[in-house]
Amino acid sequence: MRRKTKIIATMGPAVASFERITELIDAGMNVARLNFSHGTYETHSQFAEWITEAAERLDRPVAILQDIQGPRIRVGTFPGGSAVLETGEEVTLHPGEAEGGPGHLYIENLETAALAEGAPILMADGLVHLETIYAKSGTVRAKVIEGGVLRDHKGVAFPGTLLDVPAVTLKDEADLAFGAELGVDFVAASFVSSGEDIRRVRKLAGPNTPIIAKIESAVGYANLDDILEEAAGAMVARGDLGVELSFSSVPRAQKDILRRTNAKARSSITATEMLESMTTSPRPTRAEVTDVSSAVLDGSDAVMLSAETAIGKYPVRTVAAMSRICYEAEQSPGYGRGPEIEFLEDRARFASAIAQGCVDAAANLGLRVIVAFTESGSTGRLISKYRPRADIYAYTPEPRTYRRMAMYAGVTPLMFGRVKSTDEMFSYAEKYLLEAEIVHLGEGVVMAAGIPPNQSASTNILKLHSVGSTTTGVGSG
Ligand code: PGA
Ligand code: MN
Repeated sequence: MRRKTKIIATMGPAVASFERITELIDAGMNVARLNFSHGTYETHSQFAEWITEAAERLDRPVAILQDIQGPRIRVGTFPGGSAVLETGEEVTLHPGEAEGGPGHLYIENLETAALAEGAPILMADGLVHLETIYAKSGTVRAKVIEGGVLRDHKGVAFPGTLLDVPAVTLKDEADLAFGAELGVDFVAASFVSSGEDIRRVRKLAGPNTPIIAKIESAVGYANLDDILEEAAGAMVARGDLGVELSFSSVPRAQKDILRRTNAKARSSITATEMLESMTTSPRPTRAEVTDVSSAVLDGSDAVMLSAETAIGKYPVRTVAAMSRICYEAEQSPGYGRGPEIEFLEDRARFASAIAQGCVDAAANLGLRVIVAFTESGSTGRLISKYRPRADIYAYTPEPRTYRRMAMYAGVTPLMFGRVKSTDEMFSYAEKYLLEAEIVHLGEGVVMAAGIPPNQSASTNILKLHSVGSTTTGVGSG
């Protein structure tokens, strides 16, 4: 059996070479995240080039996910890349993106007028806690209640303060145009608060690019159902969510978001601090191992690494560790289809019924392999969402679908040339599975396809096939 849960790794200085990217893919990275809160267009395109070339050389599907900053507010920069804020010290905050210094720092889009006396200001996922003393003439004076190290561009939250920042900023617009040109496979939208926000992002992203909603604010969480109507998936963005709600409510929110996202057949991702200690240590804490494992058992399609791979000391080791933890978790009896997964209502209704049939047939007959032929990837995604024990081999003639399916749990994406009939598809798959020694002669497999072939949303056939029987004959299972 193969690992089912997919791994997203964030790009950054720690992995900035063709060799490192190759090692990451080899260790198990399925999706590479370009974080547009950091880096330049030059570094992002360089990463995209390395990823594409390394994936091609290794003959592995790797999707590129563009994470746009959204209406997130961040601190500017500091000399040397970071500053220490001492508990009890008073600081002045200016709006803008410039470099701060002792006793003063810059905050992008800071709305000084909105801040009331005593209003909390949380930085770096809540690590540094400030309290507003007063706001005057375009600056804010604040007291450091809890100090700490603040790195360049760290996030700032103003819990309880109503801010008027647009859902899609000018920076996002430019970044989305750039991402479309780069041909990214997914866009992750930060701090979305409604389905309308997703529609806005989608208009600016490349054609048919799936949008993943990062759920990281109280309002975004409250509007999850509305967001899931429009988004292709949801990410439990635990860093900011833990600041906006409270850290103690993150586990409950995580389980709830994953369950509801899966019930809508959308992609589900758990993110942030999953193996955080591996940023500086060669091995994870037991608590982190258990956290990754829980995220798998909670139903995540994918789990994400952030600082661990972007700026960590052991990026490749971290991906390898995550891969092993996921695999182990999937072997436990608790892994699989939860009670919330009944019939998955989807735009592709026939495909959903076929997918459910495939998964049930494989379970009832104890079959290890499900084969799907899919144009848009919908059939691959739907079979994945019914969470079979069996491995899913999903063939597509579309390079974009091939890469996108790298995100779907349990799916091994494969490319194949267009053929004229489903019989040709079945014999093509059978030949590959035998040659790759994935199945043996006489073994039963489940196959899903569509007539007529080569059309999107045409899936309407489920075939139980005995490997080695003539493809036009009837399999005996
Ligand atoms: P970020 O999002 O890493 O872009 O802040 C993830 C999170 O908030 O958890
Ligand atoms: Mn965030």
